[in-house]
Amino acid sequence: MRSTLRRTWAEINLDHLAENYRKIRTHVGSESGFVGVVKADAYGHGAIHVSRVLQDLGADYLAVSSIDEAMELRFNGITMPVLILGYTPVEQVARLIEFDITQAVPCRDKALEYSREAEKLGARLKAHIKVDTGMSRLGFFCEGDCFRSGTDDIAKVCGLPGLDVEGIFTHFAVSDEPGEECLEYTRHQLDLFLKVIHEAEKKSGRSFRLRHCANTGATVRYPDTYLDMVRPGILLYGYGEFARELGLKPVMSLKTTVSTVKNYPPETRISYGGTYVTDRPTRMGVLPYGYADGFFRCLSNRFALMTPKGPAPVRGRICMDMCMVDLTEMPEVDQGSEIEIFGEKNPVEEMASAAGTIPYELVCAVSKRVPRVYMEEGKVIDRELLLRM
Ligand SMILES: *Cc1c(COP(=O)(O)O)cnc(C)c1O
Repeated sequence: MRSTLRRTWAEINLDHLAENYRKIRTHVGSESGFVGVVKADAYGHGAIHVSRVLQDLGADYLAVSSIDEAMELRFNGITMPVLILGYTPVEQVARLIEFDITQAVPCRDKALEYSREAEKLGARLKAHIKVDTGMSRLGFFCEGDCFRSGTDDIAKVCGLPGLDVEGIFTHFAVSDEPGEECLEYTRHQLDLFLKVIHEAEKKSGRSFRLRHCANTGATVRYPDTYLDMVRPGILLYGYGEFARELGLKPVMSLKTTVSTVKNYPPETRISYGGTYVTDRPTRMGVLPYGYADGFFRCLSNRFALMTPKGPAPVRGRICMDMCMVDLTEMPEVDQGSEIEIFGEKNPVEEMASAAGTIPYELVCAVSKRVPRVYMEEGKVIDRELLLRM
């Protein structure tokens, strides 16, 4: 592990994570619980470490996207409730029950399958009903003419003998976007969700203990969406305008080092395709960071990485394993100098906007060959390399 450390690595600041968590809970207030969204390896930050911090701090639930992600947590000391937001094949119901994992139920057919399988095992599967209120992805569709049939179905599912329906949830499509229209859309989604809950409770004669819908945008902007638990993802990791609004800090800093410095005369073509040609004597740094590490190739010639002396522009095409930056203006930056790709000095938001994407995609793109280095109180407490060694 030591040998790889001076290449490219992601520092995961667990103090920032804990601080962000506390600030979000303060913002939300003590009436609502907290679901930590740790799908996609906790947005690239490492699901095990992130979940341990959340478990220790008293979060109420974790959410992942698949049974594999849920099992990873169970195999690594996470005993708190875990909800799978995505699809799980019915053959896996025995494992869900054995490891006390909660499954989202997106439709009546799935519910029937899950219930039958659980009954065969003489057990009940813990479930949260997923309602589609306007995201148009998974969930019982209850809009317009479908309100009656949708709520009938939900009520029926609540009574299935193989299911223990603990909760109900929905997901907002535009709660994080500005404008009156998005506000209206979100209000409508919330209204519909509350009506569906009311109707399904009336029809089934039961009540849902855990109602949740507030993703990042809703957690910051719409207090009436909090219900029993909030469910923010990107906010917890400290990225985006909402994180800044709450004074949260980025949890990941992606770093690399200058591996070589080369001097070129004017008119030298740099990298594949020669898309950059030097226009003066140029001092070029080679960095061991390329698109296989998660650097978007579309940023070739369009972005600058942060050296200790300021930003150094990327020159020429980004390669699989390397890229080149112009160090002509900063002679102090030399072989071995540390470069911040994104983090506190070089915000990931800027890199995302240069790449025409969102911070989510950039942190999820940090690839498995980039070691994660976990920091607490300024000290390295663990290192993790996701390669099979
Ligand atoms: C990913 C996800 C979240 C978290 O979304 P953020 O925008 O990161 O807050 C919440 N709920 C569901 C169902 C999700 O899939």
